[in-house]
Amino acid sequence: MISLAMPTLHELKKFAQYHLVRRVHDHPAREDELGVVSLDYDAVRFAAEVRALADRFEVREAAHVAYAGRPHTIFSIGTRNLARAKARLLVLSGVHGNEHAGIVCVPEIAARLEAEAAALADVAVQILTPVNPVGAAELSRLNGEGYDVNRDFVLFLTPEARAVREAFDAFRPNFVVSLHEGPQDAAFMFANEHVERALADRLLAALERSGTTLADKDYFGTTLRPRGLSPSSPASRALMRVWAATLKMMPTSEYAARRGLPELTLESGWRSPDREARVRPHVELVLAVAHALARQA
Ligand SMILES: [Zn+2]
Repeated sequence: MISLAMPTLHELKKFAQYHLVRRVHDHPAREDELGVVSLDYDAVRFAAEVRALADRFEVREAAHVAYAGRPHTIFSIGTRNLARAKARLLVLSGVHGNEHAGIVCVPEIAARLEAEAAALADVAVQILTPVNPVGAAELSRLNGEGYDVNRDFVLFLTPEARAVREAFDAFRPNFVVSLHEGPQDAAFMFANEHVERALADRLLAALERSGTTLADKDYFGTTLRPRGLSPSSPASRALMRVWAATLKMMPTSEYAARRGLPELTLESGWRSPDREARVRPHVELVLAVAHALARQA
């Protein structure tokens, strides 16, 4: 049975584990206690869909990671306007492998970027997907060695985090969007300290206009004001500093912040069996950010 209620204390404790332990297991363990409803992600089919974009986008194999004797590919999909673009948007898709909505949305994002290319002529978009291909294939949050990639932006022990760092260095984004899912009942986004509040408000309005339900509470049960937004605060920034200094753990949002870059981390609700409702916020947020960058360019 699928519960759309708030997480229980047990579930919160389980989830807290991911914030305290960098290497949660020694293999890509399936997470089956937090009610993740997996979508119809198929690694072979997804790779074929990405490769089929190569006639319209710059499609590269950005990195390979091996698991159980098989190679898995992290793809880079880039728009072809990089040389003349005035702004650059980096999209991180599937840093947590079992958060499938942030991966299966990619072909639709590509189709929309193509359809709206005239308005986005000044914005180059690069999508790294799936950032954690082993986790995606194995229905695991973790990579092939049991690391949470989104904690690895201090030590860079994982090839996945190093691939993200390479994308930051080579593509030099002005803005980063990372596509995730969580145990809350609807969509919300974390904004790091460089995301302007007025922009966040406009993006939330765009999400609602396109039919996304915004969450009233995040996955810790904290009320979100406004709905759908968890902004950076002095307390959250202090926590990030302590977390990085003591446990050497850092997510991409803080890594971007320390490089002076705005990052939005979108979290759709992984408990919902409604694929379309989970995919839609990812597609709409990426497009809304791209259009916002085009207007500023
Ligand atoms: Zn995640």
